[in-house]
Amino acid sequence: MNATTIRDVDVAGKRVFVRADLNVPIDDGRITDDTRIRASLPTIVNLLERGAIVILASHLGRPKGKVNDALRLKPVADRLAQLLGRPVRMTGDALGPGVQVAIDKLRPGDLILLENLRFRADEEANDPEFAAALASLADLYVNDAFGAAHRAHASTEGITHHLPAVAGLLMEREVDALSRLLTKPARPFHAVIGGAKVSGKLEVLEALLARCQAVLVGGGMANTFLAARGLELGKSLVEMDQLDNAERIMAEARRKRVRLMLPTDAVIAPQIHRRAKTQVVPVDAVPKDQMVVDIGPDTRSAYAAHLAKAKTVFWNGPMGVFEISQFAEGTNEMARVIARRTAAKAVTIVGGGDSVAAVEGLGLADKMTHVSTGGGASLEFIEGKSLPGVEALLPAGAEINFPKEDA
Ligand code: ADP
Ligand code: MG
Repeated sequence: MNATTIRDVDVAGKRVFVRADLNVPIDDGRITDDTRIRASLPTIVNLLERGAIVILASHLGRPKGKVNDALRLKPVADRLAQLLGRPVRMTGDALGPGVQVAIDKLRPGDLILLENLRFRADEEANDPEFAAALASLADLYVNDAFGAAHRAHASTEGITHHLPAVAGLLMEREVDALSRLLTKPARPFHAVIGGAKVSGKLEVLEALLARCQAVLVGGGMANTFLAARGLELGKSLVEMDQLDNAERIMAEARRKRVRLMLPTDAVIAPQIHRRAKTQVVPVDAVPKDQMVVDIGPDTRSAYAAHLAKAKTVFWNGPMGVFEISQFAEGTNEMARVIARRTAAKAVTIVGGGDSVAAVEGLGLADKMTHVSTGGGASLEFIEGKSLPGVEALLPAGAEINFPKEDA
């Protein structure tokens, strides 16, 4: 990436503020997926081994500027301690006199985790004073939170006005991997896109039409495309206010000669329930009292056959209601097909919260070229948008001027 990274800076004895994305799913105090914590380890370990004083910070969930005991970072500190094999101390707040006292006690090679940044409304408001106060804790700023880089918050953007700002190793890996989709991807470049709704993904679809040779559509989103073609889909999730947009995307695909593939058959059920009775029908034969819950076997085969030629694959969004195992086969099959493309030397990249969860759940994450921790940030990156957290980093080769160089 075109940014200075932690490798380019002498960090020994320096206080380093590391903004990580430790926003993991927590259910009843227990972390259900620690991928983001593990993904943050290389940067943390690298800095500690080189004698930095690491001040680690993250958000967790959406506390909306208020202290929320259910969103304390304590479970994250405990998991991090397990993974690092050493205790991880925490502050009681993201900022304040206690934080300064705790940091003053740290020695090179020590680590402290600040409490949830979003307990302070100033974080998401990108308040300049709050950003300056966070910056005053450290000599160097490291952004390793790719998943939060699409937001200009105090800890991702504001703070960079006060400290030399460099990329962490995860940030670098994410940007480099996703850039492979934007700069000369090997052809054919095929995208698989699904998920619940078209509405949140119009810009991604448009960006993919500009770059891909084929876009394979599944999930609830496909229903809206099929409805725009005049099909009746019973009780299925269809966004009636998006029919024009779906129509426009299909016209654009024709104009650009991009193959936009839609499901030809579907798994249907009377309701979204673990024990619902399922059937497979052609997409033009969905009864009034049934809903589409997955792509059908013919669609899976057609998509697999099409992907067999791809040299680059991007996947976002599950093919069905994969949270329920009997509706997950379309999603699982796509994951296996894409993993096989990796084995055949194609570049395969998965981005998006639920699609990544599906791939992780199948144990196929290490069979992909890259599985983004980014969620929304990875989609905005694919859309070609500039991410404020990335833009704010020093360009490669920039000189580092520490604010409080020892005399
Ligand atoms: P991602 O997080 O990978 O970007 P989305 O958030 O867009 O994916 O979509 C994921 C959601 O889409 C899942 O909760 C899944 O149950 C839902 N979904 C997929 N297919 C259907 C469908 N046919 N009907 C209703 N919901 C669906
Ligand atoms: Mg999602």
